[in-house]
Amino acid sequence: MKKHNFSAGPCILPQEVLKKASDAILNFNNENLSLIEVSHRSKGIVAVMEKARSLVLELLQLENKGYAVLFLQGGASLEFLMTPYNLLRTNGKAAYLDTGAWSTKAIKEAKLFGEIDVVASSKDKNYSYIPKDYVIADDMDYFHCTSNNTIFGTQMKTFPKRKGLLVCDMSSDIFSRQLDFSQFDLIYAGAQKNMGPAGTTLVVVKEEILGKTGRGIPSMLDYQVHVSKDSMFNTPPVFALYVSMLTLQWLKDLGGIATIEKMNNAKAELLYNEIDKNPLFEGVAAREDRSVMNVTFTLTDESLKESFDSAWQAAGINGLGGHRSVGGYRASIYNAMPLESVQVLVDVMQNFNN
Ligand SMILES: *Cc1c(COP(=O)(O)O)cnc(C)c1O
Repeated sequence: MKKHNFSAGPCILPQEVLKKASDAILNFNNENLSLIEVSHRSKGIVAVMEKARSLVLELLQLENKGYAVLFLQGGASLEFLMTPYNLLRTNGKAAYLDTGAWSTKAIKEAKLFGEIDVVASSKDKNYSYIPKDYVIADDMDYFHCTSNNTIFGTQMKTFPKRKGLLVCDMSSDIFSRQLDFSQFDLIYAGAQKNMGPAGTTLVVVKEEILGKTGRGIPSMLDYQVHVSKDSMFNTPPVFALYVSMLTLQWLKDLGGIATIEKMNNAKAELLYNEIDKNPLFEGVAAREDRSVMNVTFTLTDESLKESFDSAWQAAGINGLGGHRSVGGYRASIYNAMPLESVQVLVDVMQNFNN
């Protein structure tokens, strides 16, 4: 039997997507060729790219609003530097919110390109909350934030008003909840948390904001180059792209983001309720900032660790260990995670130690 995969990323994907992807590895589109051995310029692959792009815009309700969709490589980590490279004007300034390890990495890269104002940080409490009362100066080229902090289990519920552009790393909660996505000028997300396998990064960018920095940008790092070449400036990661397209189609068929949001909320509620009422466990993140995607918790009695670990492993659960910087446990319950698997975990917690 397949394990209940609570891994943080790469992570669970819909079973039917995995099945279709394995079929296409052997025989893509009945062309009697493998998905990964045909030219990326072939009709079939160009159609996959177009389908993936249009599904992204449709699901985010960003059609005909001036957004370009890119599928790039280098992970969200490369976007940490591509965003300042493409958006921070020479001698410009940008504001960053520090909500965890990924934000910190984004800040480090951005500092190579200009003056960075870290408007607030929750480092004082090991990133267990989202800072609220901070001010973004009017002269900032953009404000950068991380919508969901995969490692710490916190999630931004609202996004601040500001004058400059809004840039968001949505790697671990894109397509998981309804938002007014048109408030963002640039969204990026590594595929491997809620969209597909590792190997491609989604970038959704308002075209009109590009080309304004006054600096030369190497082609591979220039969003405008990728926009003008429909993400085929060089060979795209065809497999990652195809599986992402299938996952987006799966989401659309399910009813889109409105439907998955309800399912995600139900899963999170089930698990947080157990954490809150079971004296053996304790949540890590501040209640109002709790993530619907990554649920972090600890044992109130650390000496029970070994027996709890054996209990969930015996139930066929995978990937529940917390990140080394937080400890404890982290249940990642992304879009493809069924409620039934969350129930298996809750049952283990309920039956544990009694
Ligand atoms: C995983 C993750 C990243 C890093 O993604 P890569 O694709 O491995 O570079 C960045 N930001 C967030 C929020 C993440 O969860």
